[in-house]
Amino acid sequence: MDENNQKPVEIPSPTQTVSLKSGLYVTATPIGNLKDMTERGKEILRRVDAIACEDTRVTAKLLSAYGIKTPTFSYHEHNAADVRPKILARLQKGEAIALVSDAGTPMISDPGYKLVAEVREAGFYVDAMPGACAVTTAIMLSGLPTDKFLFAGFLPVKEKARLDSLAQWNGLPATLVFYESPNRLLKTLKAMVDVYGAERPMAVCRELTKLHQEVVQDTISNCLDEFAARDRIRGEIVLVVTPGEKIKPDASTMDDLLRENLKTMRVKDASQLVAEQLSLPKRDVYQRALEIKEVEKSNN
Ligand code: SAM
Repeated sequence: MDENNQKPVEIPSPTQTVSLKSGLYVTATPIGNLKDMTERGKEILRRVDAIACEDTRVTAKLLSAYGIKTPTFSYHEHNAADVRPKILARLQKGEAIALVSDAGTPMISDPGYKLVAEVREAGFYVDAMPGACAVTTAIMLSGLPTDKFLFAGFLPVKEKARLDSLAQWNGLPATLVFYESPNRLLKTLKAMVDVYGAERPMAVCRELTKLHQEVVQDTISNCLDEFAARDRIRGEIVLVVTPGEKIKPDASTMDDLLRENLKTMRVKDASQLVAEQLSLPKRDVYQRALEIKEVEKSNN
């Protein structure tokens, strides 16, 4: 590290009262381990006039762990449009405001980018205090290729939209990173088997930086078996999936996939999914799905 090249940090001793330059200070907080808060982040949270946070109760606990007494107010997706002008008005008065999320890096599946845009547009100073983030922590632990990755955030909750979303990234020459909740993990792993194939290597990263941190790195279907065998799946989860070729279409692959999907889906949905998976014309796949359905009916 080149020490002469560092952005100056005006860190006074705790008893000094040098006022901070007016502006917005976007500050990362830990994703589970209190020791992951940076010195610069703590100093900023101590010295700003107020902290905008998603849930004031969550941030209050964090601040009390560091002995920080700065006042907080809420800024979350439901009040953001109303609160942004109030933050701009405070900056206009010369105040320094920090933005934090409940955990990790603001704006990574958390609110904030519109605030940064408006604050900069209005000509005020914006700075970032980088730190913990579940995406980068999972990438660091996954043991999967790191040269290119795509962070796809949370998958849609509805099954069809979830399959479409997974299919959208299929064949991309980059490692894929998803956030997932424990109660949807099995559904998502099943969908990944359908869309990406059973054998693709992946990592399920759970409870990162916490006491029960766990990384299961295996094929998608083995990860599915591993978690399906558990009584209960808890904690916060990041899924990392290696880049893979799109499944090469041949007639038997299409028929196999259609037969499998037709067990649980309507003809229209099954054929749309398979058309996306194999990059084939929807009309042709739909036609074939109808034929398979007909044969199955006459066999029963
Ligand atoms: N801004 C946060 C960040 O920097 O990672 C993410 C916020 S997002 C609302 C919350 C999701 O991030 C969780 O549902 C989980 O998928 C992931 N996550 C956050 N902390 C995690 C942890 N300690 N271990 C695994 N995943 C985590």
